[in-house]
Amino acid sequence: MLKQMNQNQLKKTQTKQSSLTQSNYYDLATDISWQSPTFFKKFLSCEAETMAEINGNYKPDFKEALLVGNYLHSYFESPEAHLRFVAENKWDIFAKKKATKKETAEGLSKNGQALKNNLTAPFEQAERMISTLASDEGFIENYQGDKEVIVTGQIDGVNWKGKVDCLNLDKGYFIDLKTTQQLDKKYWNVEEHGWDSFVAHWNYQLQMYVYQQLILQTYGVLCTPYIIAVTKEKIPAKAIISIPEERMLEAEDQIYEMQDHIEDVKAGRVEPTRCGKCDYCKSTAKLGKIVSMDDLID
Ligand SMILES: [Zn+2]
Repeated sequence: MLKQMNQNQLKKTQTKQSSLTQSNYYDLATDISWQSPTFFKKFLSCEAETMAEINGNYKPDFKEALLVGNYLHSYFESPEAHLRFVAENKWDIFAKKKATKKETAEGLSKNGQALKNNLTAPFEQAERMISTLASDEGFIENYQGDKEVIVTGQIDGVNWKGKVDCLNLDKGYFIDLKTTQQLDKKYWNVEEHGWDSFVAHWNYQLQMYVYQQLILQTYGVLCTPYIIAVTKEKIPAKAIISIPEERMLEAEDQIYEMQDHIEDVKAGRVEPTRCGKCDYCKSTAKLGKIVSMDDLID
């Protein structure tokens, strides 16, 4: 059985919820008060980098990937949300030579679609992914419910936050939209000495476990998690993916096992460990001890 919280914890969580909004959800300040699947996974991959990011000393370079993801998500949220997102990020979305400031602003105010033929390559790809999903009856039928729902709660005494792409409480499920390179791409797992799918590689089951718990705590409904994935291939492929119970339990175990240590690091009680491999570690590293040629690879 998945572990559940008591009523006192539930009340504490609900009073906290009022201070998280759509406009401050991604602010770093909220990542200090709340744990999230994104930051928990960052801590698992490199504590030093994540602490530098939380303290405002380091900004990882994933702006484009984030923007492309938000472009797709906002499209399926609502026409207003998409138009707002496009207007706010027009300098990254449109080819600069073709879209002058004036043209961009006018084009957007007249019609959100007006400048779609001036998209930069990553957003042209996002458009292909959007059409792949938007023209699929199964997707339209299933991607029904409240969009971008902020949920909060506690897991083993720690405050967590999450933002659910599509929540259907009536039918008891939620969906997270993911873009990925290829549905059947294999990732080598060094610890397990085996291949992982993209879902396991990016530890999406942990995100699904957390969302399931936070939805349960916020609304009292145990929902089934699904991922709808669409690929970044020239002709995008798509799939609706379930998460087996044992994967959810695996995620739960990982949180219960690692969370205390991560909280200690976050609070400054324990020095963050350097992974030695990420951009942050590389950019702050000094030549150290001599490494044998036979120790270079795992
Ligand atoms: Zn690192």
